Amino acid sequence: MPIQRTKQHLYSAMDLKEENRILRQRLSELTQKAQDNQETLKRFHARELELLSAESLPELLYGMTDGLKSSFEIKSIQLLLCDPDHEIRHLLSNNGIDEGAFPFLHFVDDMVAVNPRFSRLRSPWLGPYLSPEYDNLFCEDHHLRSIAILPLFCGNRLAGSINLGSDVSTRFTRRHATDFLARLATICGVCLENAVNRERLLISGLTDPLTELHNRRYLDRRLDEELARASRYRQPLSCLFIDADHFKRINDNHGHQVGDQALRELANRIRSQLRASDVATRFGGEEFALLLPQTCLSEALMLAERIRLEVNSNPIPLDDGAELRLSVSIGVSEALPMLGKSHHKELGCHLLANADQALYMAKAKGRNRIEYETSGELGTGDPETTDMSLRPG
Ligand code: GH3
Ligand code: MG
Ligand code: MG
Repeated sequence: MPIQRTKQHLYSAMDLKEENRILRQRLSELTQKAQDNQETLKRFHARELELLSAESLPELLYGMTDGLKSSFEIKSIQLLLCDPDHEIRHLLSNNGIDEGAFPFLHFVDDMVAVNPRFSRLRSPWLGPYLSPEYDNLFCEDHHLRSIAILPLFCGNRLAGSINLGSDVSTRFTRRHATDFLARLATICGVCLENAVNRERLLISGLTDPLTELHNRRYLDRRLDEELARASRYRQPLSCLFIDADHFKRINDNHGHQVGDQALRELANRIRSQLRASDVATRFGGEEFALLLPQTCLSEALMLAERIRLEVNSNPIPLDDGAELRLSVSIGVSEALPMLGKSHHKELGCHLLANADQALYMAKAKGRNRIEYETSGELGTGDPETTDMSLRPG
């Protein structure tokens, strides 16, 4: 009997030892996991702070693509943004940024069309990569094995998703906790909504509501930028001042609403003649100012003539069946910043003042015509008839 008890005692001592070893191993694993989580949390926090402190929409989009990719060492990332009205794209191009600047950003009109299953997600989904089903969720083929899809919400609206891809099958699995990713997606959604609203506000302060062209404040802002660009790339910058002729008569004869309709039509006809890089603004009242990057005086005069004809050739049909024939007078000027030693501010003032002076001449000489002025050198129509070598640099 005592032998039996000793044996039992021995077994339980061994069991306890083994149990103890297992517990210690488990504790060490948990400690390691806690440390790993702590590290992950730190990285998430750092990234979240960067996103929250982004000062503009482009900066935020960069943080949500390249930023996430590098801080989480992710093989492949794609930010899908649902932008059916092309509003975000317009906001970006208003910042002078084209889509190509963000290789990991892709705009779509409809999230359901991209992937019906993921368009119903309310929280992150982690799991294996299936080809070709998920191919359109990523822009690059990196032989992905596992993915995480983070739906983005602006309020209650699904605004897109952040798609993370790994070439390791265990990186994103259904067993992984998704709290950190869910929190990150929420922050991204809120930041996106804020940044878009901020840009909208900025734009509304820089846009003329009647014609939807930019306003004078926008012109001031762009003038500096365009002169800096022109001087950096040694290119000319031209300016057109366009003023509707005898516009007061239109209001007097047809009323203010018809006047507004005519202004909108005038803006459309001007816009129809421009390149994407041209800056068109309503300077005030019935006057428009255009900045034409990479355009020399003779090209600007040709464009002015096209606009003059576009406005004058066809009458504007009015709602009451009547027709209105408009004409414009145009003043043209050119800046050659690469040759001038002047400060940009000074050059900008000259560019506008010269176009204004030329417009004044066009009015004085009978309207529905084009004049140009280059720092004291006045001219009419075709610049080839003027000795261009006289133009000061
Ligand atoms: P000119 O050929 O010398 O430029 O003659 P004008 O009649 O066009 O010029 P003036 O400066 O005498 O009158 C401009 C008119 O444009 C007067 C103003 O009421 C009208 N106007 C300015 N802004 C608006 C607007 O937003 N809507 C309407 N309907 N009229 C406007
Ligand atoms: Mg006028
Ligand atoms: Mg005027």
